[in-house]
Amino acid sequence: MADAGAPAALEAAGLRKTYGDFVAVEDVGLSLAPGASLALVGESGSGKTTTARMIAGLEAPTAGTVRFDGRVLPGRRARTAVRGSFAGDVQMVFQDPYASLDRHQRVADSISEVLAHHTDLRGSALARRTAELLDQVGLTAGQARSLPRALSGGQRQRVAIARAVAVRPRVLVLDEAVAALDVSVQAQIVTLLRELREQSDTAYLFITHDLGIVQHICEDIAVMHRGRIIERGRTLSVLERPGAAYTRKLIDSVPRRGWTPKRGATA
Ligand code: ADP
Ligand code: MG
Repeated sequence: MADAGAPAALEAAGLRKTYGDFVAVEDVGLSLAPGASLALVGESGSGKTTTARMIAGLEAPTAGTVRFDGRVLPGRRARTAVRGSFAGDVQMVFQDPYASLDRHQRVADSISEVLAHHTDLRGSALARRTAELLDQVGLTAGQARSLPRALSGGQRQRVAIARAVAVRPRVLVLDEAVAALDVSVQAQIVTLLRELREQSDTAYLFITHDLGIVQHICEDIAVMHRGRIIERGRTLSVLERPGAAYTRKLIDSVPRRGWTPKRGATA
């Protein structure tokens, strides 16, 4: 089953999802090497979240397969990605971190809980690793003792990222994870994600409708339109020389910040 050489961290092939007669995702294939970073972009309704949920095992594909390190993800539903038995393979961070946090649990405890569930760490080693994760995502000791409601949106998203990273997943899926945040907080989280990515061989699937930030996180990009991937390549070269008319339209529709397409390059 495995190809020659090391298997991909994630290999999704022929993914299809229908809701009745409606085809939400059609023939989507994605391959992520360990440590790779892929942006999945496209307008609202193009099928990004449905694709992500199939990859995370939260939604059964109508057709197609998802493999981690060459092993097939069983087509069962997990209540949450964190608790699913494939948690070490894939973790998902959502747009609204508050919904995924227990509002009665202090921040540090919510991270320790994930660590205790998925690792052998106990006692002082558990506390040390918890503190290390809190530090990595830039949360203070005071914030660690707080309940989620005392935190800002950006701080809550840091907690969600720490919980996802705690499991050392092969693949981390971030679905519009910075979409609800202020621009300056977005920039902080983007920087954090890039640092975390550089420190591990976790592969990142970064889903967004906002093309302005992808080049800061992702080396590669895939463009979805009406359930299909219509273009893919290196992020900078796709942004500078989009091949598909739809990609060009998408690029033209976003406010520019940080990058400018070279006008003469497309023709
Ligand atoms: P995106 O994340 O790119 O905005 P989604 O994957 O959420 O897109 O949705 C793709 C399409 O599938 C949309 O038209 C959406 O309305 C539809 N869809 C998603 N989930 C369901 C569902 N549970 N039942 C019916 N239609 C759905
Ligand atoms: Mg979505």
